[in-house]
Amino acid sequence: MMEILDRLRAVVGTANVIVDPFDMEPYLTDERGRFKGVARAVVRPGSVAETAEVVRICAEVGQAIVPRAGGTGHVAASVPFESGEEIVVCLNRLNKIRVVDPLNLTMTVEAGVVLTDVQEAADRVDRLFPLSLGAEGTAQIGGLIGANAGGNNVLRYGNTRDLVLGLEVVLPDGRIWNGLRALRKNNTGYDLKHLFIGAEGTLGLVTAAVLKLFPKPAQTETAFVAIPDPKAALELLARMKTATGDAVTSFEILCRRSLEFAIRHIEGVRDPLSDPSPWYVLVEVSAGTRTEAFREVFENALASAMEDGIATDAVLAGSTAQSESLWRIREAIVAAQKFEGGSIKNDVAVPVSAVPEFLERALRAVEEACPGIRPVPFGHVGDGNIHFNLTQPEGADKADHMARWDELTGVVNAVATALGGTISAEHGVGRIKRDLLPGVLPAVELELMRGVKALIDPKGIMNPGKLLPPVRD
Ligand SMILES: Cc1cc2nc3c(=O)[nH]c(=O)nc-3n(C[C@H](O)[C@H](O)[C@H](O)COP(=O)(O)OP(=O)(O)OC[C@H]3O[C@@H](n4cnc5c(N)ncnc54)[C@H](O)[C@@H]3O)c2cc1C
Repeated sequence: MMEILDRLRAVVGTANVIVDPFDMEPYLTDERGRFKGVARAVVRPGSVAETAEVVRICAEVGQAIVPRAGGTGHVAASVPFESGEEIVVCLNRLNKIRVVDPLNLTMTVEAGVVLTDVQEAADRVDRLFPLSLGAEGTAQIGGLIGANAGGNNVLRYGNTRDLVLGLEVVLPDGRIWNGLRALRKNNTGYDLKHLFIGAEGTLGLVTAAVLKLFPKPAQTETAFVAIPDPKAALELLARMKTATGDAVTSFEILCRRSLEFAIRHIEGVRDPLSDPSPWYVLVEVSAGTRTEAFREVFENALASAMEDGIATDAVLAGSTAQSESLWRIREAIVAAQKFEGGSIKNDVAVPVSAVPEFLERALRAVEEACPGIRPVPFGHVGDGNIHFNLTQPEGADKADHMARWDELTGVVNAVATALGGTISAEHGVGRIKRDLLPGVLPAVELELMRGVKALIDPKGIMNPGKLLPPVRD
């Protein structure tokens, strides 16, 4: 084993083969603190050529690699197993923005660039890179592509998959595939980039990507709206889309409990409305030109929703600062739950029209399974994607609650799948949901996935044990 580490040191330099347990620690855990892995080393190549050489050496000796970016993923896909036999490869030194092309509306960036840096680089040329999520100050392009991240603007701009035009990938044998095409149209066979997007590092190391940019909206309007029930959310969404010419960029639902948790635990968060409501939506619409009329359309749509009982109260942001403070409520929910004890996470999606039925059935089912449980459903209702998180009953033992993770996520997943939904809308599979796939995917689909893996990574060195369940006899 010393031999391989020496060979890797010769490629990336001694300082970039980290073996000290203290220095490795930031690369070995998941953001939620549920998993703590062990690794032989953390290797940080400084170029695409170095990455290819690192992978080539690992392939030669069958050394397993765990691709790691910002480590903010929710399914422990970038955390090594406890065996201590894997090597973590992190591309955070590949952090160049290679090309910005405002006329082609594209940007070519390396895998280690942090999402906020991409957003800012787009902003500097008066363009928008619309991918946006709570971890954007840490998550890196390689990880966002590996996870096919979603976030708050999927409704208008799509998820990461929709925002990538081309990829550069180091394949599991060390070859470099240069698919960095900045083309809107290209029908030259199978569109291979889509295999690597959302592959959770199981097919290769993405080293760079061509990303789509958009015109920067000149006007954005944000409102925090009290609604009587989730059905009203869908009616409001439909009205907003029609009234604004499909200009709704975000449409997030929050249950009352999520707001209460945020107010209780996160500094600076307050209830923007005077009376409590069982449900809320955070709505954002944006337009290419700044006009009084656009705000009026937004206000009128909200006013008519209130007249019809679809909304019961609303606050409209009058400035960017006010809009940010409304968004702070949404972004505070995840952190706030930690103060209330154990929280079991779900990331389901159902057809948008089925969200009210999903919420009703899932709330009933989890209360039956665990009386006193405190569900905290919130999230991207405009995409049918609900984070149906389950906080422990008051006074319950945290460890006892967390021990019921599989059982209680199973209850929620069963409701989602019965309604034609999915058990993972945007967080992926990783280690946490791997063994659930045979129960939710047709056998033929899993067979094809295994075939793709075997073709591209025949030695199985890329993130083994993640995403694909082991074949059982
Ligand atoms: C507060 C908070 C809010 C979040 N909100 C959202 C949200 O709204 N929507 C959402 O979808 N997610 C969300 N997430 C989850 C997370 O931010 C995303 O999954 C993100 O894509 C992870 O990026 P990362 O850089 O941290 O990658 P990591 O977690 O390090 O890795 C993610 C996956 O990509 C693989 N990978 C890493 N680098 C590469 C590479 N170079 N090539 C190939 N594969 C690679 C890893 O092996 C792993 O499978 C949130 C997380 C937090 C902490």
